[in-house]
Amino acid sequence: MKTIGLLGGMSWESTALYYRQINELVKEKLGALHSAKIAMVSVDFQEIEELQHKGQWDATGEILSKAAEQVQAAGANFLLICTNSMHKVAPQIETAIDIPILHIADATANKIKADGIRTIGLLGTRFTMEQDFYAGRLRDTHGLNVLLPLKADRDLVHRVIYEELVLGVVRNESRREYLRIMDSLRAEGAEGVIEGCTEIVMLVQQKDTDIPLYDTTSIHAEAAVEMALSSD
Ligand code: GLU
Repeated sequence: MKTIGLLGGMSWESTALYYRQINELVKEKLGALHSAKIAMVSVDFQEIEELQHKGQWDATGEILSKAAEQVQAAGANFLLICTNSMHKVAPQIETAIDIPILHIADATANKIKADGIRTIGLLGTRFTMEQDFYAGRLRDTHGLNVLLPLKADRDLVHRVIYEELVLGVVRNESRREYLRIMDSLRAEGAEGVIEGCTEIVMLVQQKDTDIPLYDTTSIHAEAAVEMALSSD
């Protein structure tokens, strides 16, 4: 079994989900007392969040590159950046390490395409929804037609992530708003919706809607276990 590298803490609420799901999947696949081999470094999200909102992405990239080097030094065979948004600096992190990065948008797009879906809604932080590193990658590299909420709804989705979900706060009122936004994406033609922020699954799960949901946390965790258990 390969050692899975986790770059976590963004936020720790969702890193805890990764840790649990990865171990549960390894237990399910290998049985007995098996658990995952994991090397994890978890950062202080306050520092990251302040730099994000000031647009100082290079500085976030430096912090995360150092953390990724530590993960590599701890014996990881490959790396997961446990957040969608911080894949913005994945190219910078990549240059600091020798192990490969398992990109969350690629894992998600592969699953969507395998399900035969071409038009997909995307919810996440404003960075993830509006910038090329994520929505652009889904469109250009994977040929998906990506639908976004309207500006006011993008702001709402972003605010709920930073003011509630990363703090572990789950509100019924916010769930209703997210479901309303998902419904309007479906009305525009979305065949499914990407939960493109690793905390959204805490708020909306598949049992809450019949729109197919793509929970990036579970998809990323599953892809990691597949890679850890593969022979190549
Ligand atoms: N975990 C979130 C994501 O998947 C947001 C926190 C962050 O900005 O990294 O994008």
